Amino acid sequence: MKTIDLVVPCYNEEAGLEHFVLETNKVIDTLPEYRFRYILINDGSKDKTYLIMKKLAQKFENVKYISFSRNFGKEAAMYAGLQHTTADYVVVMDADLQHPPKLFPQMIEALETEGYDCCATKRDEREGESAFRGLFSKLFFKLSNKMTDVKMPYGAMDYRMMTRQMVDSILELGEVQRFSKGIFSWVGFNTKWISFKTVDRELGTSTWKFSSLFRYAIDGITCFSVAPLRFTAVMGAVIFLISLIYIIITLIQTLFFGITTPGYVTTLCAVLFLGGITEMSIGILGEYIGRIYMEAKDRPIYIIKHSNFEEDKDIR
Ligand code: UDP
Ligand code: MG
Repeated sequence: MKTIDLVVPCYNEEAGLEHFVLETNKVIDTLPEYRFRYILINDGSKDKTYLIMKKLAQKFENVKYISFSRNFGKEAAMYAGLQHTTADYVVVMDADLQHPPKLFPQMIEALETEGYDCCATKRDEREGESAFRGLFSKLFFKLSNKMTDVKMPYGAMDYRMMTRQMVDSILELGEVQRFSKGIFSWVGFNTKWISFKTVDRELGTSTWKFSSLFRYAIDGITCFSVAPLRFTAVMGAVIFLISLIYIIITLIQTLFFGITTPGYVTTLCAVLFLGGITEMSIGILGEYIGRIYMEAKDRPIYIIKHSNFEEDKDIR
């Protein structure tokens, strides 16, 4: 019998977690030839998520949980979950039912009969998302596909089913600053993309703010590409060439015609323009140095406070 682990990061999901498990169980019951297991990760929730997880674990023996000592972010939660998987297939999904479990049969089919290593999802309609946010994410996908080796379609989501082999490859990338969408793509393997209409979150509220989305986009690009650094170098070279031409022209003018105008505007423009560019380049450099600094510290990606994986060890 094939086994399937469901990795579910949860942050302040008290309102919908039980509903999620009950709804997902309905789909699981239609697939009796597979053994499913939940790996719920409580990412330092401030509400009763942990208590609900414990209750669920008592009620259903296939519910495993890991509870962090604080909020480490969805990326850390996914990593922790993946590290605890042992199944033949692994699913990564959200706890808010925005990732419909009814796609499981389709995903299993892609892996088992169509020979894919991964079946991932993307959204084709972005209802419930503001025009501004939609525009921003389109721009992000365009930019990151251009600038990095990581190719993903517009609207790519984390929700996916992967083979054991692919999960093991993902776990080999132990970087502290994780950008899973990029990592999933970077490890390669054949991915089938299926799209579905997104639904609004049923219970609870989305915890992502626009500012965190912006951070996410910057991370997405800087984690997989040094193109911004190259861009600053190219920009410097172009400015140098232009200034050289300008210097020659002014020199000739001064030599043959003497100094005619005080050149206040030109000086001001040059100073401000170059100042701006220098600041920006330092900023881009800083972004990468910051990343090196965080990686160099090599801190653990997460810290576990409670987990019911320990209980298994006692039995053995
Ligand atoms: N999540 C998490 N840690 C966080 C923020 C979110 O584990 O710091 C989880 C959350 O519980 C949910 C998933 O990540 O299962 C996606 O979060 P959300 O629904 O808020 O984001 P969106 O659907 O808007 O991408
Ligand atoms: Mg959501």
